[in-house]
Amino acid sequence: MPNDCIFCKIIAGEIPSHKVYEDDLFLAIMDVFPTTCGHVLILPKKHAQDILDLPVDTAAAILPLAQKLAGQIYAAFHPDGLNMIQNNGPAAGQSVFHYHMHLIPRWESDGAVKQSKPIKISPKELANMATTIRNNS
Ligand code: ZN
Repeated sequence: MPNDCIFCKIIAGEIPSHKVYEDDLFLAIMDVFPTTCGHVLILPKKHAQDILDLPVDTAAAILPLAQKLAGQIYAAFHPDGLNMIQNNGPAAGQSVFHYHMHLIPRWESDGAVKQSKPIKISPKELANMATTIRNNS
């Protein structure tokens, strides 16, 4: 693990956290800088920088855990909705470079997460993008 990774230090117990869930692969904790009340982070225990670095078995296991914890958050706080957000790279808003998924309960008009505006794009450009992505499989 990188010596300066705050999430690795939390997983190792060197920095305290408010644990929500733990198993062999994951630790889920309360975000200490929450976007809303009930904001949870899911951390894989083995350091991985981002989605491209995450082992496929860990990637496959995170969504069922996110679903389970989302259910617990709904039951606990009765939000109107919930965002699952996962940022990769500084341009996407990643600030801690240890893969993590945010579970952010939402309430009507909380204004907590800004919705993006769609860019203008033609059907031909969309078709070209789909082809380009398919060609990189
Ligand atoms: Zn780490």
